Amino acid sequence: MKDPVPCNLVEKAAREALENRGVYVKDIAQIVYDMQAKYSDNLTMEDCIESADAVLCKREIQHAILVGIELDQLAEKNMLSEPLQSLVDTDEGLFGVDETIALGSVFGFGSIAVTTFGYLDKEKVGIIKELDTQKEKVHTFLDDLVCSIAASASARLAHRMRDREENRKNDEIKKREDEELIG
Ligand code: MG
Repeated sequence: MKDPVPCNLVEKAAREALENRGVYVKDIAQIVYDMQAKYSDNLTMEDCIESADAVLCKREIQHAILVGIELDQLAEKNMLSEPLQSLVDTDEGLFGVDETIALGSVFGFGSIAVTTFGYLDKEKVGIIKELDTQKEKVHTFLDDLVCSIAASASARLAHRMRDREENRKNDEIKKREDEELIG
């Protein structure tokens, strides 16, 4: 059996892949802020950055990022075989695998993540809109991945804010967070 790939290498590669494609944690955090600000008067950008960053610690999301961005980049270099090359390159409306991969990684964050993903996929706010309109690049998978990370971070934050409102002790919140970050 081959040696398993160390987690830290996967996480580093996923974070770098996002940045190389022009997506930064602060861009995702801005979407999270816009999604959650109406539900909490005390929400700060720091909360949103922390939540987006925590979501990027999840293996399922890292794997989705690596697969999706790789396919976008291969399509940009014309390296996929037909008809997949054309389907990815033209962001064919009925293709749907881009949404499926991204949606698959939000389930760990519950129903708020799923419904927020659907909303962001339709409305394409902030950096998602920018990616969608940069026609010289292929962002067929990346726009959905950003929806996924932002949706998961929004859901995570919604639960965290409730924990805070209920004055849960910090060690209790930390315990829940550690549990969430498994996988
Ligand atoms: Mg897409």
